[in-house]
Amino acid sequence: MADRDNAPVLCIIVPCYIEAPVLADTNRALKGILRSMKERGEVAGGSHILYVDDRSTDSTWDVICSLADDEVKGVRLSRNCGHQCALLAGMEHSRGKCDVCVTIDADLQDDAGVMPEMLASYLSGADVVLGVREERRSDSWLKRTTAQAFYRVMRALGVDCVYNHADYRLLSARAMSDLLEYDERNLFLRGIVPCLGYRQDTIPYRRGERKAGESKYPFRKMLDFAVDGITSFSVRPVRMLFLLGALFMAVALGMGVYTLVRHFGGETIEGWTSLMLSIWFCTGILLIGMGITGEYIGKIYIEVKRRPRYKIAETI
Ligand code: UDP
Ligand code: MG
Repeated sequence: MADRDNAPVLCIIVPCYIEAPVLADTNRALKGILRSMKERGEVAGGSHILYVDDRSTDSTWDVICSLADDEVKGVRLSRNCGHQCALLAGMEHSRGKCDVCVTIDADLQDDAGVMPEMLASYLSGADVVLGVREERRSDSWLKRTTAQAFYRVMRALGVDCVYNHADYRLLSARAMSDLLEYDERNLFLRGIVPCLGYRQDTIPYRRGERKAGESKYPFRKMLDFAVDGITSFSVRPVRMLFLLGALFMAVALGMGVYTLVRHFGGETIEGWTSLMLSIWFCTGILLIGMGITGEYIGKIYIEVKRRPRYKIAETI
């Protein structure tokens, strides 16, 4: 494999789920770009495209088989594992076989034309290059608004993720191999990538319409994905429980004074004072207890992920 002074071997990884209608176009476009990069000497001759069939229920795999040649390869998963897993499978499969990989969706919504720019960033020293959507006019209003809200919530919860970056990215071999050490099951790659460190560049691009086929991310699945992203990276929701408990306790104190004053003023009916006090105190104590338990569960959660603690980037 090459160092950065020689042309690197590039692998373009494309996850595919029920993409038969679009794959021929995708392949033509990607092959065209790969060819011109090869001709300009930007990537090595062994550079190739790898389609990962996420066990589609249509003829996607047959199409991949018919497209396969020297520079087009395919793998098929044993069951449908989801977009993130398909990406991981592609990277795992191409580990050791390339110097750099680019992951891109099969539907050509992401501008494959910026790949040479991504590669230029890599050659100038970046290990991670993120494709960032400049605008989302081609997305529906619902998709755009929910996506933007999602990035905001993630930021507010302290999760480092790049606004409007999906899974169109370049990774150097070492960044890819570091990423594969994140052994977690709830995969949210765009949250993990910033944790990799190294030099991370962004390249803006215009996101287009899906060329053919249908989106595999209806609203429900997007919501699941968002919840996955938040819960895999942030323990702040649990901390909020604790804060809420503390708030209840503060209210309980205030209520304590208020109800006792009312009680001794003789303005209350039998049982009201004790009822009011117990409701606020008990809820406060319960919430605080849940918050404390949650902190420990959060710690266990982080431990069981066994994420790498550090990585050495350079030695001299
Ligand atoms: N995908 C996959 N497995 C799935 C769902 C989707 O590999 O279970 C792939 C899909 O083929 C596409 C990419 O993930 O290449 C993104 O999906 P899609 O374009 O449907 O999402 P959207 O762009 O609408 O968010
Ligand atoms: Mg898409």
